Amino acid sequence: MSDAANPVASAELPEHRLIIGVECHVQLDTKSKAFCSCAVVFGAEPNRHVCPTCLGLPGAMPVLNRESLMQAIRGGLGLGCTIASFTKWDRKNYFYPDLPKGYQITQYDKPLCTDGAVWIDSPTRGPVKVRIQRAHLEEDTGKLNHADDGTAALDYNRCGTTLLEIVTHPDLQTAEETSLYLEELRRILRCLGVSGCEMEKAQLRCEPNVNVEVKIGDEWVPTRIAELKNLNSFAHVRNAIECERERQVREFLETGVRGPRPKSTRGWDESKKRTYLQRAKEEAADYRYFPEPDLPPVTIAARLADEIRPTLPELPSARRRRYVETMGLSPADAAALTDERVFAEWFEEAVAAAGGDAASAKAVANWTMTDVRR
Ligand SMILES: [Zn+2]
Repeated sequence: MSDAANPVASAELPEHRLIIGVECHVQLDTKSKAFCSCAVVFGAEPNRHVCPTCLGLPGAMPVLNRESLMQAIRGGLGLGCTIASFTKWDRKNYFYPDLPKGYQITQYDKPLCTDGAVWIDSPTRGPVKVRIQRAHLEEDTGKLNHADDGTAALDYNRCGTTLLEIVTHPDLQTAEETSLYLEELRRILRCLGVSGCEMEKAQLRCEPNVNVEVKIGDEWVPTRIAELKNLNSFAHVRNAIECERERQVREFLETGVRGPRPKSTRGWDESKKRTYLQRAKEEAADYRYFPEPDLPPVTIAARLADEIRPTLPELPSARRRRYVETMGLSPADAAALTDERVFAEWFEEAVAAAGGDAASAKAVANWTMTDVRR
C-alpha cells in the first residue's frame, strides 16, 4: 500500500498512514422481526412488541422471516456481492442486559453475501474500490435507556429486528474516504429500498476499525487496531478517526507496542473529542460461536438471485454516470440530483416533459436544484 496522499508527516509525528475498514449494522426494512412475528415499530411504547421468542424465553422457537432474507439478498446484490447457495445461523454468546437470551443469532462462517464492492471518488486517490468482505444477517438487541438519576430502563421492542452487518476490507486511508464510503453505502441501500439508513433512528450504525502504520527506518510498523463505537453521525466518524490516528501514533512512540492484534474496542466522546477504552481484547474466540440448533440452514437456489436482480433499481453511481454522459450535466449536479431516488425520478419525468434533450436537461436541473428543492 502506498500513495501520495496518505502518509502524513508533521513536525511532531513521524511519517505514518491510516488503515481503515468499516463494519456497518443496517436495520433492514421489514414488517416483522427476523425470527418471530412481532411488528417492527420505531418509537412505540416500550416492551409492546415482544413475544417469548424475541425475549428468549425457554421453549420458544425462532422461525426465519422470509422478508428479512429477501431484503438482505436485495442489499447484497446491490453491493455487487455473491449470494451464497448455502448459509447457516450461529450463536454469538455474550451477556448484556439488552440481550435477554444471552446470545445473538448471527452468521459466523457461512455469511449470506460475500465479495462485493462500493466505489468512491477519493479527493486524493481518484476512484477507489472499497471491497465488501461480507454482509450477513443477524438480530438486533434491545435498548438500555439510561436516566439522569443513574437508573436504566430496558426496552426490548428492538430485540430481534433484522440487521445486515456489512464488513469492508481495510481499503480506506483517510477519514474523508470513510465518510464518502458511508454516504455512498447509505445512498445505495436507500435506493434499493432495503433500509431507511437513518442514523438518528439507529438504522445505520458505523464501526470503523482503525490503525496506523508508522514509518521507522525502512519499515512500516502497524499499531494495534481499535474498533470505534458510539458514532452517531458521519461527522463523529471523521472526528473519531482523526483523533485515533494521533493517539495511536503517540501511544506507539511511548510504548513501542506493535500491532495489529489484539484489537481493542473504544468509544467516542464527542464533547471531549476523544476516544476511550471500552474493552481491551475482543476476538472471535471470546464469543464461543457455535451453530444455532433451533434454525435449519438455508439453501438458496441460484435462480432466486437471477429473479431478483432485474427488479433492482438503477443504482446511484450508474444514474450519476448517465446524467453526465447522456444529459451533459456536471458531476456535481449529477450527484446532487441522484442523492435521493424519488427526487431523481421526479427530475427525469420533468426532463422528459420538457423535451428530453440535453438543453432541457440542463435547464430543468438548474430549476430543480434551486426553486424546486426550496
Ligand atoms: Zn417477538
